[in-house]
Amino acid sequence: MSATSETQRMEKIVSLCKRRGFIFQSSEIYGGLNGVWDYGPLGVELKRNLKNYWWRVVVHERDDVVGMDGSILTHPAVLRASGHVEGFSDLLVDCRTCKSRWRADQVVGKKGARQCPRCGSKDLTEPREFNLMLETHIGSIDPRSTSTYAESAASLTSVAVPSDPSVGGPIRATRSENQPSDVMHPAGEQIALVYLRPETAQSIFVQFKNILEVSRKKLPFGIAQIGKAFRNEINPRNFTFRSREFEQMELEYFCRPVQGMELLQYWKEERLKFYENIGIPRSKLHVLNVPDMERAFYSKGTYDIEYDFPFGRQELEGVAYRTDYDLSQHQKASGKSLEYFDEETKQRFVPHVVEPSAGVDRTVLALICEAYSEDQAADEKGKMETRVVLRFHPRIAPVKCGIFPLLKNNPQLVARAKEIVDLLRPHMTVFYDESGAIGRRYRRQDEVGTPFGVTVDFETLGEKNAALRDTVTLRERDSMKQERVKISDLLQILLTRIA
Ligand code: ATP
Repeated sequence: MSATSETQRMEKIVSLCKRRGFIFQSSEIYGGLNGVWDYGPLGVELKRNLKNYWWRVVVHERDDVVGMDGSILTHPAVLRASGHVEGFSDLLVDCRTCKSRWRADQVVGKKGARQCPRCGSKDLTEPREFNLMLETHIGSIDPRSTSTYAESAASLTSVAVPSDPSVGGPIRATRSENQPSDVMHPAGEQIALVYLRPETAQSIFVQFKNILEVSRKKLPFGIAQIGKAFRNEINPRNFTFRSREFEQMELEYFCRPVQGMELLQYWKEERLKFYENIGIPRSKLHVLNVPDMERAFYSKGTYDIEYDFPFGRQELEGVAYRTDYDLSQHQKASGKSLEYFDEETKQRFVPHVVEPSAGVDRTVLALICEAYSEDQAADEKGKMETRVVLRFHPRIAPVKCGIFPLLKNNPQLVARAKEIVDLLRPHMTVFYDESGAIGRRYRRQDEVGTPFGVTVDFETLGEKNAALRDTVTLRERDSMKQERVKISDLLQILLTRIA
């Protein structure tokens, strides 16, 4: 497909997401907040189905993985030890002409010359490091009214620092770029600078010992987590693809050093299977073997799993063999042993880890892009029209089944349709719709990807043919084929198809 038609396709997807309640710009009525998004009624269902399926296959269906749910606010010591405070940065470039701001890799033109992507100017600043972490403060003082800061000698513990009576109000102290400081209230209460986590992984490493003890797992075993992460991206773009607030689905799979490379291959394959099982075909997925020069220095191997988005081939997930780097760093910085004792060999060592780290929002976007299609279908009068359909895999579709009485002013049809709603609702998301022509109701559900539609008609009431009493029409979204099924079989048929 040409670049223009792919751009148009993306525009249609963004517009559909808003029109039908998948994704809205955050704080839209105030002009929006760049790089931050809200999910509407259908978006939240899609996102939950994705996360639930990931949790099911990564945690529930395995014996060797347990879950956790860590905090978002993170002690700076954790992120100093992991290297984020020092080094979690991108190179930033400013355009002196139009004052726009870019990541250094975005200003390199086709012939290698540096050029502003917005105005074309070559008057750009030299690249400089920009730390992507977002900070906040904890403690009962309003940092907005704190015009000055005092550097506290105490590190970030819960111990209150005695106030200096000579200080009439908080005073500003110099603080180096990477050295978060505490702020001291005149009354003596300390508030502290903390970070919003830039990835979920670090809380897993920091809780490794606790979880090892309570779960009594033996190597190899994993700890999984789904949760929010925050990065002050220089240039959020491509809809939700690069956001400042997003969710990750991460697994830290701990192992013996000799198992690392083999498990890297294993998890790459498992993750590819996962994407296929939610409806992303293998042909649209690509595995990039990240070259030595571009890998984190501690990683012995990293694969990026990429997807062909309408705006180009981009990363969905990274699968990295991180060696024992993270646990060793935290062991060193905290002074607490994070070793594993192998009862068979009687050896103690810091486990190695393989990490599949996927983005929830990026995968939701890939699912929507993959599902979006337009085809031709006949309207009520037999005239062909363009049908917009989201061909979601039934497993992740936000609504599984639409339920329609043929006529809304026939109490018997409505009553039977509502009985079917009650029958299905405890088991799946359903949508009851009685307004408009039946063809139009089908289209509305096609457009949001509902895989099945059930119509209650006069045959259900047994008016034309007693043999058809208590049967309904079951319509399949993609083929638009209709079959007659018994109401008593309906639940089982649908449960099998959406499993
Ligand atoms: P990129 O190179 O695209 O910035 P990354 O290599 O920094 O991504 P990781 O740190 O490996 O990303 O994070 C793991 C996953 O988290 C990514 O594969 C992606 O799915 C998701 N992710 C990372 N940054 C963002 C973001 N700004 N917005 C949405 N998802 C993100």
